[in-house]
Amino acid sequence: LAAGTTPEDDLLARREATFATAQEHYYDNPPRMERGWRHHMVSAEGRSYLDMVNNVTPLGHAHPRVEQAISRQLRRLNTNSRFHYAAVVEFTERLASLLPDPLDTVFLVNSGSEAVDLAIRLAIGATGQHDVVALREAYHGWTYASDAVSTSLQDNPNALATRPAWVHTVDSPNSYRGRWRGPDAGNYAPEAVQIIDDLAASGRPAGAFLSEPYYGNAGGVALPDGYLEQVYAAVRRHGGLAIADEIQVGYGRLGTWFWGFEQQQVVPDIVCVAKAMGNGHPLGAVITTRAIADRYRDQGYFFSSTGGSPVSSAAGLTVLDTLRDEDLQGNAVRTGARLNSALQALAAHHSIIGAVHGSGLYLGLELVRDPITLEPATEETAELCDRMLDLGVIVQPTGDHLNILKIKPPLCVDTTAVDYFTHNLDRALTELGHRNNGSTSSPIRHHPDFDTVSRP
Ligand code: PMP
Repeated sequence: LAAGTTPEDDLLARREATFATAQEHYYDNPPRMERGWRHHMVSAEGRSYLDMVNNVTPLGHAHPRVEQAISRQLRRLNTNSRFHYAAVVEFTERLASLLPDPLDTVFLVNSGSEAVDLAIRLAIGATGQHDVVALREAYHGWTYASDAVSTSLQDNPNALATRPAWVHTVDSPNSYRGRWRGPDAGNYAPEAVQIIDDLAASGRPAGAFLSEPYYGNAGGVALPDGYLEQVYAAVRRHGGLAIADEIQVGYGRLGTWFWGFEQQQVVPDIVCVAKAMGNGHPLGAVITTRAIADRYRDQGYFFSSTGGSPVSSAAGLTVLDTLRDEDLQGNAVRTGARLNSALQALAAHHSIIGAVHGSGLYLGLELVRDPITLEPATEETAELCDRMLDLGVIVQPTGDHLNILKIKPPLCVDTTAVDYFTHNLDRALTELGHRNNGSTSSPIRHHPDFDTVSRP
């Protein structure tokens, strides 16, 4: 080691030397994580952190049922789904049973990017239409097709200028900070419908409309009422299909709804799932109708060496059993409501809080410098995340302006933890206020629509 370099610095330098620069890490000086338990992570120094960001582990870190199911299956058999074994049949049946008719046919893959990529190929195969309409401000993955429909400026500042010609975008239907706000948010759907109609009129009808059905990447913002109903109807009118990316928001996290599309009262043609499915074990799925899935056969072959393996299927089944047995969707309702009202209460003391978005345990705390112009408090949000780390809490920014704290802890998070979180957030926001204004006693002004946008 060079003089003055600690083993921790050295490990970080080695990581940076071998990782591509596009692969970033959280924090300038990240703690080195060694263990996880429920909604806590423990660093190599033995410090415990409350994990408010990890929606890949809905059951909590190191859940013993998942560990046992995976190790038991690994000891017995792990192979690919061209062999016949029970776990993959049971798992696909369970997944299909979670979706409304006519979504009854399942493809198992290993990640969200793969699921979105396959969904796009299924839509193109079934319709013979090669254009796709997606929302701006979206993230759907890193593979060729899933990246093509990812327009989030947070991930790629050149995203909009570099889309392939088959990708068409419509405005991010954000009722808080988009072009249409509050009661005017009803204007997004007719605008998107117009774009879909114009594409068809130009001889390039869309094969698919693809979006998160509850806008996770925009900070957990509900789409305007009736948005998907109108847009799905338009794309279907021209022979296209509706794809819902449930990778972040689905699987019970929203509390009231197991799937985000239920909030919009629609049924998509193709649903993509991943993240939560394996509690950290790589697992993804595309669920669609028999008719759409069968059309894929005309153009190709589907095989994933590890998608739906015995181990993945055992993990997937165990996650579903545990979500049910521990009533984690119920906990998302109850603990999510407590967290939501605590955040609303903080907004009464901190003028930087512009809105509390989200549902259940998918919440977004949007920070603004001015309640009327909504100037994003980007630097303040970064500063807050660093300070929260000092205080033992992991939370990260999202949205095109990186001014929204994305709050999506493991679904086992309890009242002690959310109270600890809000207590420390209050403290960090107070310190931030002192630093930026010299005082926190300035009168709290909120946007006139605060109560309507920040509904639980
Ligand atoms: N869609 C959404 C909405 C996502 O948030 C992500 C991951 N952040 C993906 C797709 C891609 O999933 P994965 O990282 O498993 O490839």
